[in-house]
Amino acid sequence: MSDYILEIEQLNVGFKDKKVLKNINAKFKRNTISAIIGPSGCGKSTLLKTINTIILEVQEAFVSGQILFDGRNLKQIKPETVREKIGMVFQSPTPFPMSIQKNLEYALKYYGVKRKDREEIIIEKLKVTGLYEEVKNSLHESALKLSGGQQQRLCIARALTIEPDMILLDEPCSALDLKNIMNIESLLLQLKKKYTIIIVTHNLSQAKRIADETMFMLDGEVIEFGETGQIFDNASDRRTRDYVSGSFG
Ligand code: ADP
Ligand code: MG
Repeated sequence: MSDYILEIEQLNVGFKDKKVLKNINAKFKRNTISAIIGPSGCGKSTLLKTINTIILEVQEAFVSGQILFDGRNLKQIKPETVREKIGMVFQSPTPFPMSIQKNLEYALKYYGVKRKDREEIIIEKLKVTGLYEEVKNSLHESALKLSGGQQQRLCIARALTIEPDMILLDEPCSALDLKNIMNIESLLLQLKKKYTIIIVTHNLSQAKRIADETMFMLDGEVIEFGETGQIFDNASDRRTRDYVSGSFG
């Protein structure tokens, strides 16, 4: 087993004639949280979408280079398997317009998990995400009635039902208040014991608080990727130093 769950090699991604990711090389260690930071438009979301292969659904997208997942080329893994292993959580919470229970059952049913097992898994994931006490009496009510913070935790719980190896989160806290941000952060710190996490964040303090490693991107390139303390206190590239000190972006 490789030390790295994900290895990105010479990755280039673009749309039509526009190059968006330029020669990305990066390796992600198991059971870590990596934060991706960088100004708006630098390609952070595109990188996450490429890792979980939803980019391939964009007609004008082109992708070259390779991504190894657990040492296997992603291209050789079936899309539904990739999505089983690499879950994704988006910026604004995206509960399906159905009950809390149905949200959590959705993927489990798709993968043919039996009813009794489904019920156990659902309770476990609600407990893991700290939602159980809050929603145990309203499992059959619409998930859309939950607060933003609860919806985002539900989306994380939903991503966990099928036991992925990795979770990608794209600015998951940007619509949340401080209390909910703290909830999500402590949840992620707990989850990294079992999963590998990549989080895009525009909140530099958040990266400092929770990330083991931080990647700084600028204009489609990885400028620097290393241990979080080093990136914030002792970056080797001037552009990284300028960005983390708040000079731009
Ligand atoms: P970030 O998440 O860092 O803000 P994105 O990855 O969303 O950046 O976008 C990077 C660049 O790619 C932007 O210039 C954006 O306009 C462009 N882009 C993203 N998606 C598409 C698309 N489907 N078609 C064309 N251009 C796109
Ligand atoms: Mg984005």
